[in-house]
Amino acid sequence: MIKIKKSKDENNNQQLCTNACLPYVAGVTDKLKKTLSKRNIGVRFRTVKKIQQVLPSNQDPVPRLLTKGVYELKCTCGKSYIGQTGRSIQCRIKEYQRQTRLGNTDKSAIAEHVHTNENHKIDYEKIRVLDKTTRYYPRIIRESLEIMKNNNNFNREDGYRLSNTWRLAISRDR
Ligand SMILES: [Zn+2]
Repeated sequence: MIKIKKSKDENNNQQLCTNACLPYVAGVTDKLKKTLSKRNIGVRFRTVKKIQQVLPSNQDPVPRLLTKGVYELKCTCGKSYIGQTGRSIQCRIKEYQRQTRLGNTDKSAIAEHVHTNENHKIDYEKIRVLDKTTRYYPRIIRESLEIMKNNNNFNREDGYRLSNTWRLAISRDR
C-alpha cells in the first residue's frame, strides 16, 4: 500500500475547504461566523435580497407589456383592435396614444376610430396580451387569426394573408 504524505499546505487547504455561505444579518451572522470558524468552517456573506427587489416595482405595474407579441385593445363601444409588435407592447401603446393625441388618423386605425366616433375611448388598462410570441411569422399569423376570429374589430387590414383553410377552420370553430 502506497501512503501519500500530504504537505502542510495541502492539509491546511483541506481543513478550510468547507465553506458556509450565509445571508448577512447584523448581530447574528457575526456570532455564527465565530462559532463556525472554531470548527474550521469558512464563512462567506451574501447580501439578502429585499422583497422590494424581488417583486415588480409599483412604478412599473405592467411588466408583461414589456414583451413583443399580439394584443387586443378595447374601445368603450365594445369594439376591439388587434395588433402585433416586434418591439414592446408598451412602446406600441405609447405610439397609439401619441397618434390619437395628434390626430394622425392616417397612421393609426385607433386614432381614426377615436377621432371619427364621438366619445369613444380606448381602455388601455384593459389590454389583453393574446400571445407573447417573439418570432415574426408566428406573431403575424396569430394576429391574423385573432382578427379573423373577432368580427367586432375596427382593424383596417386583415393582417397577414392566410390561406382559406384557416378561414374555414375558424368559421367551423365558432
Ligand atoms: Zn369605439
